[in-house]
Parts: sequence; C-alpha cells; structure tokens
Amino acid sequence: MVDPLSEEIAAIRDSVTRFMQTEVLPVMDGYEERAEFPRELVRKAGTAGFYGSVFPESVGGTAAGHLAAAVIVEEIARHDVRFVHTCNPQSGTCPTAIWLAGTDRQVSIFLPRLIGGELVGMMSLTEAGGGSDALGAMQTTARRDGDVYRLNGSKMWTTLGDECDAGILLAKTDPGAGSRGVTAFIVEPKKYPGYTAKPIGAMGLSKALRVAALYLDDFVVPVENRLGEEGDGFKIIMQVLQSGRVVVGAMALGIARACFDDAVRYANERVLRGSPIGRYQMIQSEIAEMAVAIEASSALIYQAAQYMDAGRATNRLASIAKYHASQTAKLCADKAQQIFGGYGLATEYRISRYKCYADLMVAGEGTVNVQKILIAEDALGYKPADRHHGRTGLRDLAHRGAA
Ligand SMILES: Cc1cc2nc3c(=O)[nH]c(=O)nc-3n(C[C@H](O)[C@H](O)[C@H](O)COP(=O)(O)OP(=O)(O)OC[C@H]3O[C@@H](n4cnc5c(N)ncnc54)[C@H](O)[C@@H]3O)c2cc1C
Repeated sequence: MVDPLSEEIAAIRDSVTRFMQTEVLPVMDGYEERAEFPRELVRKAGTAGFYGSVFPESVGGTAAGHLAAAVIVEEIARHDVRFVHTCNPQSGTCPTAIWLAGTDRQVSIFLPRLIGGELVGMMSLTEAGGGSDALGAMQTTARRDGDVYRLNGSKMWTTLGDECDAGILLAKTDPGAGSRGVTAFIVEPKKYPGYTAKPIGAMGLSKALRVAALYLDDFVVPVENRLGEEGDGFKIIMQVLQSGRVVVGAMALGIARACFDDAVRYANERVLRGSPIGRYQMIQSEIAEMAVAIEASSALIYQAAQYMDAGRATNRLASIAKYHASQTAKLCADKAQQIFGGYGLATEYRISRYKCYADLMVAGEGTVNVQKILIAEDALGYKPADRHHGRTGLRDLAHRGAA
C-alpha cells in the first residue's frame, strides 16, 4: 500500500513505533498491575519530542506540525491505548492553552517542562452538572484576594487530575456575566493548598492513567498564573477544544487500527471447520467495512490536521473528523470483538479494553451529539462553525506561524 504520509512524517511515526515497542509495551502491564502512573515513560516520551510537535523549537517543541502530532497520537493509541492518555494533557489541551494565551513568562516557565514530560498536565473544564453545557453547568468560582485567587467548587472527569503538577482549570470570576465571566488558570496542585483529587472508577479504563474528581476548597492560585485576562477563559477553551478534537480523533483512529490489526491477525489464525475464519465471507464483510471506515477517518483526520498546519479555519472539519473517527473506533471495536467470538471478552486479548476506550472517544472533547449539532447548525446557516476564525486575538497555532 502507498504510504500517504510524507517521508518526514512517516519517519516520525516509525520512531514512535520503536519507542512503543521497546520502552512502553514491555513495562506498561507492570504499571497497570501496580496502579502506578508511568512518570518515567512520560519523561522519556517528552525527551523524544513526541509531545512537542505543534510548538516552536524556541520553547522546546519540534515544530513538526499538527499532522505529525496526529500521527504520533494515532501510533501511540495503536500500540497501547492506556499510554495515549498522556497525550492530551502533555501535548494537547494544557500546553496549547498556555501557548495560545500565556504571557512570555508563563510560556517559558511551563511549556518546555510540560512538553518535555517533566511536569504532568491536565485540562479541567467539566463539572458534575454536564460536560456538554460546560458554561451553564459551571459552579466553580475564583475570587481575587490580593495577589492570589481562591478557587471553590468541584470538577468531574479530569484526566490525570490526581497526578497533575501544572494544569489548566476553568472557573467563574463573574458568575453573572455568561461566557465573559469565565477565567482560565494555570494551577499547581502540589504547590498550593486547597486541592483534593479522587480517582473515579471507570469500566475498562486504566488504573495507572486515571481520571479524577477534583475538590477545591479555597484552592490558591497566584494572580501571575491567570491565563489571559479575567473573562478570557471561554474564548481560550473553545480554541483549545478545536485542536483537541483532532487529537481525540487521532486517538480514535489509532484505536480503530489496533482493532483492525488484531481482527485480521485473529481471522487468519483461528481455524474452524478446517479453514481460517478469514476465508468465510461474513468475516470478510466485517473486515472490509472496518477497512473502508478507517481509510475515510484517516483522510478526514489528516486533512483537518493539515488545515491547522496551514492556518485555515478548521472547526467544522475538526468536528466532522472527530465524529467520524469516534464512530469508526466503536464500529471497529464491535466488529473485532465479534470476530474474536468469546475470546473478545478475555483479558488475555486487548480487544475488550479497546472497546471501552472506543466508548470514551464518543464522549470526550464533545460528544457525538454535540459534534452533530455543530455540523448541522453550520450547514443550516444558524451558527457558522468557523465564525470566530482569525478573530480571537490569541497566539497563532498554525505550524507556519509556530516555527
Ligand atoms: C474517561 C474520561 C476522561 C475525561 N477527561 C476530561 C478532562 O481531562 N477534562 C475535562 O474537562 N473533561 C473530561 N471528560 C469529560 C467529558 O468531556 C464529558 O464526559 C463530556 O463532555 C460529556 O459530558 P457529560 O458526561 O456530563 O454528559 P452530558 O453533557 O450530561 O450529556 C449526556 C448526553 O446528552 C447528550 N446531549 C447533550 N446536549 C445535547 C443536545 N443539545 N441535544 C441532544 N443531545 C445532547 C450528550 O451527547 C450525551 O449523550 C472526560 C470524560 C471521561 C469519561
């Protein structure tokens, strides 16, 4: 098959494959059994440059671009879906927010250490009242008290919230001001009092790379850690979610590919009635449907990433790509499990784990319904998805601008 990626990007992908095979796969089950966060592996991935693709070399990035970032995430997910959960906090949402809106001081202090894997990041937006209506549901407040803010409230479903050294957290500084009342903060939970994280049990997800509920009780954030101005938080997070959708879409694509790889291998190995089951046409039908969906998803994800590299409006395409890739991950996980028969449920194989993570792809970074609403409202002319493009006043996230 012809490789659709440039030589440079294919070489990056191959280096990720080697890293996953030599550094991560031999030890990841051990971390899982001990329910231990793989800090050393995060550091190694950071040192290898896998978290820095969309950031300039001046801040420790590789400036390889959004397509490279998508391919890295995809390849990590393809090899071990647990480890890919380091990617959004380390290379996506958290450093992206700092790059978009941070002062030079904030960028220089936090960004190189986050993408270098020295600091563990997070991005905490969702609250118990509803992730799809993050603004309406937000009860967490931030009150200025001299040189610090005091944050009170709670957050749900924060990936790596119990390991975080420096992350982004959204709170209301002016609860009556709608989207203009939300402010983004760089929070340092290990440095300041008032922060408690409790891991949330989630079916089939890793015990080593956890999601947590956060409880904030006069949690201290220095004023110098406010990201942008008071009231800028919603604008920043909307921009972050746009690139996050491409990242989550790439994760979903990696999950789909892993399911496909395993299904093809198993269909060739499993012999029933004297033939490998891959010889049976109903199994072939499943394999063909998986292959078609994966090709379509990869075209969409790579195109969305290339649009971002070119500085083109991407919101609509990112939603389409994320929607398609998350549906493809679910489809491929279901079909792979069918092909495995009863063994699709055995923990000896990774299919059952990939199936749980495929479900997560449908919820994270905007649910399927939320993506459909965005796509339809754009098509119907109610709310053009890319209406804010080029008008946010934030730093450029395009590869051409970042280099
Ligand atoms: C493992 C995991 C990790 C996560 N990590 C993070 C993280 O790091 N940071 C963070 O901030 N959040 C994180 N999240 C939260 C995630 O973004 C939310 O779960 C997601 O936004 C959905 O919110 P919700 O679960 O509250 O569902 P709800 O918003 O309550 O939605 C429930 C259902 O209603 C549907 N719905 C909503 N609005 C409409 C509508 N207008 N029309 C039709 N249907 C609608 C939704 O599609 C969904 O099916 C994580 C979640 C999980 C499960």
